Parts: sequence; C-alpha cells; structure tokens
Amino acid sequence: MKEVYNLEDLRCWPAATADAQPPLRLAVIGDPVAHSASPPMHNAALAALGIDVRYTRLHLRPEEVAEAFRLLAPQKFIGLNCTIPHKPAALTLVDELDASAKFAAGVNTVLVRPDGRLTGFSTDGPGFERAVLESFNAPLRELRVAVLGAGGGAGRAVAMQCAAAGCPRVFLQNRTTDKLAPLLESVLGFFPACQVTVALLDELRSGDIDLLVNCTALGMKPGEPPVVPPERLLARHFVFDTIYTAARTPFMLAADAVGARSVNGLPMLLHQGAISFEHWFGRTAPVEVMRQALIAAAPR
Ligand code: NAP
Repeated sequence: MKEVYNLEDLRCWPAATADAQPPLRLAVIGDPVAHSASPPMHNAALAALGIDVRYTRLHLRPEEVAEAFRLLAPQKFIGLNCTIPHKPAALTLVDELDASAKFAAGVNTVLVRPDGRLTGFSTDGPGFERAVLESFNAPLRELRVAVLGAGGGAGRAVAMQCAAAGCPRVFLQNRTTDKLAPLLESVLGFFPACQVTVALLDELRSGDIDLLVNCTALGMKPGEPPVVPPERLLARHFVFDTIYTAARTPFMLAADAVGARSVNGLPMLLHQGAISFEHWFGRTAPVEVMRQALIAAAPR
C-alpha cells in the first residue's frame, strides 16, 4: 500500500488500491501532502469505531483537482479533506456549499452524498471555537479577540468564526494593510452587527483584548520571534497559536514569560478533524483516540 496516491491511481482506484484492506474511501488532497497528520488521526478514529474503511493521502496538482472531484462518487469515496493550495479552488468544484465554507472562502471538507452530489464545508473555524473552549474553558462568544495575521486563510477562518459566535470585539490585525479592507468588508457583509476593527499588527491594543490568536506562520522556523513580544502581553490574556509543528512556540514562550495561559494549534487541528468526521459519518468522533494519534504523529 502506498503512503501517497495520485490522479493516475484515482482513475483506476480499485486496481491501484487492491492491496489496501479495509478499502480506502477517504483522503486528504494537497500539494504537497506527504506531511499531513490527518491520515493517522482519522485512521485511529475509524479503527476505534469499527468502521471498515481507511483514509489516505492524494497528491494533486492544481490542474488535476477538477478531474479528481468528478471521480469521487464513481470511485465510491465518502469524502475528502483539502489542504494547501486546494481550499479556494474546491469552492467551485462542489455542488453545494455549507455556510461555513462561504464564510471561510474555502473548503477543507467534502462530503460525497448517496446521490453523488458533493457538499463543501470548512471546519477550521468551528474547530478553532471548540479548541478555545477546551483549552481555556471559555466560550468564544464571551471573548474580545485579536486575530493576528488576519489576512491569510487561517486568519479569515478564525475572524469569521469570531464574528459568527458574536464576540463582543474582533480586532483584525495584519503585517500589511492591503488584505484588511476586503476582509473587513467580507466580515461585515456576512455579520453586519459585528464589532470589528482593522489595524496593523504593531497597533495591538492589549488592554482591550482577552484572546490573542496567531494566524501567521511566524514561529514555525527555529529562532523566529514571537508574533507579539512579551512586554505587550498581560497575565490575564489567553494566547492561542495556530502553529502545531512545535509543542511550545515562540508566542507561547512569550506568554509563559508573563504568566499567561497558552496553547498551540494541535487542538484546532484535532477539532477540525473531528468535525469533518462528524460530517462524513453523522456521529460523534472519538476525540481522545484522535488526539492520541495526533500526539504520536507530531514532530518533537
Ligand atoms: P497564509 O494564508 O499564507 O497567511 C499568512 C498570514 O501570515 C498573512 O496574514 C501574512 O501577512 C502573515 N505573515 C506571514 N509571515 C509573517 C511575518 N513574518 N510577520 C507577520 N505576519 C506574517 O497562511 P495560512 O494558511 O493562513 O497559515 C497560517 C498559519 O496558520 C500557519 O502557521 C498554519 O500552520 C496555521 N494553521 C493552523 C491550522 C490548525 O488547524 N491548527 C489550520 C490552518 C492553518 P501579510 O498579509 O502581511 O503577508
């Protein structure tokens, strides 16, 4: 059995996966995709619940995604996850979009319905909301939130979730300004009553914020500084770093320095996966089994 399949394989899926038992009926698509932690997480869940299918990786180049979507129903797929760079393209390749995908301007979960129609969801924002509740025992709707790096894909998903939850204040902060105006327009288009403000990253108003969310990739490479220095953090802040490739990111270390509580992106990754699982199977995902699989697969 291969670790990563491709479009050629998908065209003749029963033959290409003849050695896979149970059959492969779910996949994450991306370019690249070999690094994805989704297969161990979902395969642990499927095995734990005795569901007789498995989840794999599909490496697709952008020009291959449309054909791959047309093959999903004929090849008896239950669904997909989409990762970089396919989330926006998937918006136009499904038959219907859940509101979550419209808010996020991207699809990270595809459900193949029994009649072959494809529905697109985004579980990143809902996964973030569950992760905040789990990590800080605080409902997102009660928190004033600064979204740091709001101009990227993760930033948009988090910003929209804050608006959807009804957060009392949402501060959208970015290194550069050009992406902020369209994002503001989009947030207010969906949620006209949202108390939302845009600003540059270094214009952070620490005193007005309860939860700070790093949605930039700053901190992924060794030696990078925290997205916000410790002198701008307060002990009462909740610090959420969406980066999940390190157990303690620079932003979390900055939080430690002032005694603030912090968490990395693993719970968000876990809960977006759990919500995908719920869309595919219509039942509660075994979250603790999935968490253990993710921890085992995470780089140390
Ligand atoms: P993206 O679309 O490329 O967005 C990057 C954002 O980060 C932009 O707002 C960009 O600002 C900003 N940025 C980049 N480098 C920066 C720097 N050196 N200083 C300040 N701002 C900087 O990326 P993405 O897909 O949203 O991913 C961003 C992060 O979210 C990654 O770390 C990823 O691992 C994480 N993520 C986590 C999960 C999860 O489940 N935990 C899910 C999705 C993503 P400009 O507009 O100024 O360039």
